[in-house]
Amino acid sequence: MSSSSNSSNVTLEKIVSLCKRRGFVFQSAEIYSGLNGVYDFGPLGAQLKQNIKNIWTKDMRTGQEDVIFMDGAILGAQAVWQASGHAENFSDPLVDCQNCNKRFRANDINLEKPCPSCGIKKWTDVRQFKLMFETNLGAVSDSTNIAYLRPETAQTIFINFKNILTSSRVKIPFGIAQIGKAFRNEITPKQFLFRMREFEQMELEFFCKEENATNFFETWINKRMNFYKEIGLDMSKIRTRDHESDELAHYSNSCTDIEYNFPFGWKELEGIAYRTNFDLTQHTKFSGKDLAVYDDEKKESYIPHVIECSVGVDRLFLTILFDAYTEDSIDGETRTSLRLHPKIAPITAAILPLSKKLSENAIKIYHDLKQKDVRVQFDESGSIGKRYRRQDEIGTPACFTFDFDSVDDKQVTVRDRDTLKQERISIDQIENYIKNILNK
Ligand code: ATP
Repeated sequence: MSSSSNSSNVTLEKIVSLCKRRGFVFQSAEIYSGLNGVYDFGPLGAQLKQNIKNIWTKDMRTGQEDVIFMDGAILGAQAVWQASGHAENFSDPLVDCQNCNKRFRANDINLEKPCPSCGIKKWTDVRQFKLMFETNLGAVSDSTNIAYLRPETAQTIFINFKNILTSSRVKIPFGIAQIGKAFRNEITPKQFLFRMREFEQMELEFFCKEENATNFFETWINKRMNFYKEIGLDMSKIRTRDHESDELAHYSNSCTDIEYNFPFGWKELEGIAYRTNFDLTQHTKFSGKDLAVYDDEKKESYIPHVIECSVGVDRLFLTILFDAYTEDSIDGETRTSLRLHPKIAPITAAILPLSKKLSENAIKIYHDLKQKDVRVQFDESGSIGKRYRRQDEIGTPACFTFDFDSVDDKQVTVRDRDTLKQERISIDQIENYIKNILNK
């Protein structure tokens, strides 16, 4: 039936359109012509995002290394961002075209060439543009009550390092992980969820002794690559790239990006950085608080070194959609499906009565599965073919069809999203079937 299947013809436009059509992602404030670089997640998108966060959390929690979690504030004290170096250094080079007034990140364009928008070459000088969003706390706006929306979650981990160390039973080496919102006033938000102004990060700061840092750096690169393999990404589209020394951030000794081959080129998906003990040293200096740890063996204090793994939830969301998007042809018609890993798919199972006359019986299965916490949908409208297409397009791995025989033989037909194979199973085996595909 199915003639070919590939995801090579995926484009950004197709993903944006599917996301809107099926309720994954909407431009924020769309009814007011939209807020640039800001997105809202609809029902399926919110669930997909939650599944991504759950799978990352589980991976961190169950791995061999000790990792504990925290949830820090979004509003950050000015002193924190002065100590971290962000207040001074966290900026992007910016240029304007003096002819059409379009603004660009200087890194994204060749200044020897004319403006890609109007074709005239009339650039301003390159200036530094601060990426942090600034606000004021309380009623009076002056320089004494400035706060910043955090541009990364990492600093809330560093400023709580001592609190966590003394209140939890952890010993170096260990990691503190966090999932949370971050904000950057990107000059040119673009490529949908790839570069946003409000986004979510999943970050791990792993604390260790200096002599073990290089080893842990390698360990974490391998672990993170393995994670992408396990969630089913096409590993021929994933690679690591070491930063050149002139690319390194102000805090970093070495950095390796995990890149994905997007339709718009190889781009960073996750950054893994050896941050040395820069952050804890800075916070020690600026706060005057001792953030050192005592080494029982060497009988001396030291400031731990840090390996960071940082990935955007939204950027991974986009990557997963690109990777899963498949078009194949069934009986001469193009079918679009999302070949999502069942753990990540927003809906795991659909219950489809063949006719509305069967709905009353079929809906009992739906309610039963819902109660058991299965992500399940019930759909009785339209032809069965149309309903299959709808489920394929949102990535549902298993559709259970309840037909006229089901009433007597207590069986349903289950259809596999990817192989299109159909088999008859007993209704009381549905839950097991779902468990099995989730544990694949
Ligand atoms: P880029 O070079 O793409 O701007 P970066 O090197 O500034 O990224 P980091 O500061 O290393 O990014 O942030 C860690 C991760 O957070 C990135 O790998 C990416 O997945 C995510 N991220 C960063 N900025 C954004 C953004 N504006 N929108 C969505 N995700 C982002």
